[in-house]
Amino acid sequence: MKAFLVYWHNEPKSFNGAMFETAQAALQSAGHEVRISDLCAMKFDATSDRRNFVTVRDNSFLKQQLEEKHAAEHDGFAPEIEAEMQKLEWCELMIWQFPLWWFGLPGVLKGWVDRVFAMGRTYGGGKIYEQGIFRGKRAILSLTTGGSEESFHKGGMNGDINAILRPIHRGILQFVGFDVLAPQIYYSPARQTDELRKAWLQAYADRLRQIERESPIEVGEY
Ligand SMILES: Cc1cc2nc3c(=O)[nH]c(=O)nc-3n(C[C@H](O)[C@H](O)[C@H](O)COP(=O)(O)OP(=O)(O)OC[C@H]3O[C@@H](n4cnc5c(N)ncnc54)[C@H](O)[C@@H]3O)c2cc1C
Repeated sequence: MKAFLVYWHNEPKSFNGAMFETAQAALQSAGHEVRISDLCAMKFDATSDRRNFVTVRDNSFLKQQLEEKHAAEHDGFAPEIEAEMQKLEWCELMIWQFPLWWFGLPGVLKGWVDRVFAMGRTYGGGKIYEQGIFRGKRAILSLTTGGSEESFHKGGMNGDINAILRPIHRGILQFVGFDVLAPQIYYSPARQTDELRKAWLQAYADRLRQIERESPIEVGEY
């Protein structure tokens, strides 16, 4: 299987960094081919503007989706965006590794989506959801939180984690056609023992070594 890992954390020695390395090693040891985007190491620029493109459709007014469509038709994406698109198109499994920030993706990872998931190339012309361009591919959100597991249940302080992840699961991944596998969530790693964190990494590696057997989850409406 071809696996694409997209990772952002501003500290390589973080628990997210350990999860990212664990995933690479586990997938490779199971015989899968792995490509990565370590967005912090790449110094990926999260700002979406004309630098997304080498073509120009209208230089008097920037309408991003129309420039995207134009670029898709004229081989017009900037090299750093084109490279990310090719990894997206290549993969069969995509994993995003990140810390939950303000109930969502950290800015650089969100910016990566804003720039790379371009109209005309990753969706559009009715090719969304079940007809999405990436149907048949699978995706996993792998994340950590600061809050405890109890705080992310329905009725808890933060509410249901599945509702918090829905905009990403439904609004991004399923929108472009990915099937969503169960998220890998480790709550509050900073407050756990080293022993438990190591056991979590082991469990994550065990999961990934058998990932081909998993079925997609339903993303509810909440
Ligand atoms: C701007 C911002 C917004 C945030 N918003 C939210 C929010 O909305 N909701 C929420 O719940 N939280 C939020 N947080 C908290 C954030 O989600 C957590 O701090 C983060 O997820 C913890 O993961 P980490 O990788 O940074 O942990 P770290 O603190 O880096 O790691 C935890 C521990 O694991 C250790 N470790 C590293 N590698 C290994 C290894 N191989 N084996 C064992 N241990 C290891 C580290 O040394 C450290 O002691 C926010 C934080 C910020 C900065």
